[in-house]
Order: sequence, then structure tokens, then C-alpha cells
Amino acid sequence: MSTPEEFERLDCSAVIADVWLLLDNECDEQARRRLQCHIDTCKPCLEHYGIEQQLKSLISRKCGGDQAPSGLRERLTLEIRKTVIVTDVD
Ligand SMILES: [Zn+2]
Repeated sequence: MSTPEEFERLDCSAVIADVWLLLDNECDEQARRRLQCHIDTCKPCLEHYGIEQQLKSLISRKCGGDQAPSGLRERLTLEIRKTVIVTDVD
């Protein structure tokens, strides 16, 4: 049912799901690419969540072989949880 445009344009809520994937997995290449692509094309969304820089850092750290620092993980988890709650109510 999706048009090509819809397929290419990742939904912002799907981005948050990908963030969870990256947090839970060492390095999910597909999720990482989707996120990287989304950050490049939809900056306002991650800026809105206040996690753009954290996410970029997470992507490079995770896929560079490092664990995300616990503080970063906590912050991201908090932001995502808030986002999910806000989205739910909205
Ligand atoms: Zn977005």
C-alpha cells in the first residue's frame, strides 16, 4: 500500500524504535543506516527530542566497537520514554 515516497521517508516514531534497537544490540547495521539517513533528512525531529547529538555519538560509539556510556544510555532512555509517553497522549 505504501508509495515509494512513503517507503523512503522513515516515520519519526520508527526512528525511536531504531534507537531502542541500537541501545539493545551491539551494532545493528540496518538500524544504524536508517537512523543515519533519517538524521540527515529529518534533523528537526531529533533536535526536538533533544537526542540528536547523543544519538550521533551512540551510533559512532556502538559501531566503532565501544559500549555506549551508561550516562548516555540513561539519558537516551529517559528521552525516549518521555517521547513515547508524549506521543501516546497526543
Ligand atoms: Zn524525523
